[in-house]
Amino acid sequence: MAQVMPPPQLVPHLQPFASTIFAEVTALATEHGAINLGQGFPDTDGPAAMLEAARAAIAAGHNQYAPGPGIPALRQAVAADRATRYGLHHDPDTEVLVTVGATEAITAAVLALVRPGEEVVMVEPYYDSYPVAVAVAGATRRTVALVRDGDRFALDLDALRAAVNPATRMLLVNSPHNPTGTVFTTEELAAIAELACEHDLVVLTDEVYEHLVYDGRVHRPLAGLPGMAERTLSVSSVAKTFSATGWKTGWVCGPAELVAAVRTAKQFMSFVGATPMQHAAAHALTHEQAWVQQLRIDLQGKRDLLSTALAEVGFRVHPSEASYFVCADAAPLGETDAVALCRQLPVQVGVAAVPVSVFCDSPTREQQPWRQLLRFAFCKRDDVLHEAARRLHALRAC
Ligand code: PMP
Ligand code: GLN
Repeated sequence: MAQVMPPPQLVPHLQPFASTIFAEVTALATEHGAINLGQGFPDTDGPAAMLEAARAAIAAGHNQYAPGPGIPALRQAVAADRATRYGLHHDPDTEVLVTVGATEAITAAVLALVRPGEEVVMVEPYYDSYPVAVAVAGATRRTVALVRDGDRFALDLDALRAAVNPATRMLLVNSPHNPTGTVFTTEELAAIAELACEHDLVVLTDEVYEHLVYDGRVHRPLAGLPGMAERTLSVSSVAKTFSATGWKTGWVCGPAELVAAVRTAKQFMSFVGATPMQHAAAHALTHEQAWVQQLRIDLQGKRDLLSTALAEVGFRVHPSEASYFVCADAAPLGETDAVALCRQLPVQVGVAAVPVSVFCDSPTREQQPWRQLLRFAFCKRDDVLHEAARRLHALRAC
């Protein structure tokens, strides 16, 4: 967004990634005292007993390196949780790896499994770290744009099929989806699975919003589809499920050979993550599911509050089915350049948002709304959202 020049010494393949959009927007929001609906992080804490478990772990002396794959209690808790909720079974010793957030799991998986010159197919808009992981691996990304279908964003199955070629090694999937809040339908998931099986691809599925699905929706993990267990790496973390984005504690589950490969890459990236947080995460997964249920209900209300306010202001709001985010099209307000609008918003009305185009390779692609779409995060206290709504109303008068 802002013109951040890459440091001159930076290697060429990292030049396009000089800064993250989240750091830029947060800096802009801070500078102008704006409400930050750009970066997706909650402004309230996770379950009190989980926080206490972290303090207790520190007090009990769990302050040295954890084992490479993560502490057994967390690996067991992850496996038990997936067995209970999805009927998916993982050996906690060989099929679960604890990572430094979902981010490390994704990067390590790409580095471990994709050779230089191979291709990774991902959906556009994509989470910002995906293309960087692919670039660091010396591989190539091939993007498949979501398409507007009424107010929903749908997966273009023909385009997905057309993107797969002999160089494709991996499909990188994210449902529930950031930034659109789309949950892939059963048909969309089945098509991904069919394609992966037909071409013998590894599927890396980022499911950090697995719990944050609204209106009675149910998350269906790709690993549960026929033929998928043996080729799927499923990633999640405590960040979104337990409102602890600063803990950077995540995990990846899948077949032992794939997880072993990811562990090999991961061990020289961070070696291991923070030990006390792993103890607290094990507690949370085992004892705090009721808290998560309530979080989902609360977030659904917040989604409604912000979506209604954006519609009142005059945006075309794309209903969010999941995640922290709702996307709003500024075209009805006479604005077709979301980047410019996101630069103005913090200064002129005191609210920060993120332009969706920064998550796209081809924001101006024919028929795509990305250029005029803003992503707003609704994972904030109600009073903060009400104040944001009040401020945004000024746009109507502009
Ligand atoms: N994937 C997606 C889709 C995200 O929105 C985020 C942000 N939480 C991450 C991965 C990174 O998660 P973590 O903080 O656990 O690394
Ligand atoms: N996942 C968060 C988002 O999409 C931000 C993560 C970050 O700041 N890197 O807003």
